[in-house]
Amino acid sequence: MTYVVTEACIKCKYMDCVEVCPVDCFYEGENMLVIHPDECIDCGVCEPECPPEAILPDSDPEADKWLELNKDYSEQWPNIIAKGEAPTDADKHLGEENKYEKYFTSNPGQSE
Ligand code: SF4
Ligand code: SF4
Repeated sequence: MTYVVTEACIKCKYMDCVEVCPVDCFYEGENMLVIHPDECIDCGVCEPECPPEAILPDSDPEADKWLELNKDYSEQWPNIIAKGEAPTDADKHLGEENKYEKYFTSNPGQSE
């Protein structure tokens, strides 16, 4: 069991989730975060903290198609343990549909 980040995170990246995760299992891409499925302890603390409701438990049918993406990129992107600055246009993209097709990039984020 794990929680997964879905496309609602793309271009939002408020990072409130990072602050609360007890095991620091978030990884940062250029415009979204993912959760490492093998590190997540399934505590669920991050889910209600996410403003665009981008985080789902893998028991949710919607989570299925994002699980592989979380797994793949958590092995390529840097670990993020502290909340950074959200993009200035984050609110503009809140609730927007098909963000994966429009904006996803495999580029890593800025964390060390
Ligand atoms: S709080 Fe939600 S939208 Fe923000 S970075 Fe975390 S998962 Fe993404
Ligand atoms: S469910 Fe818990 S362990 Fe998993 S990513 Fe969220 S806060 Fe971290």
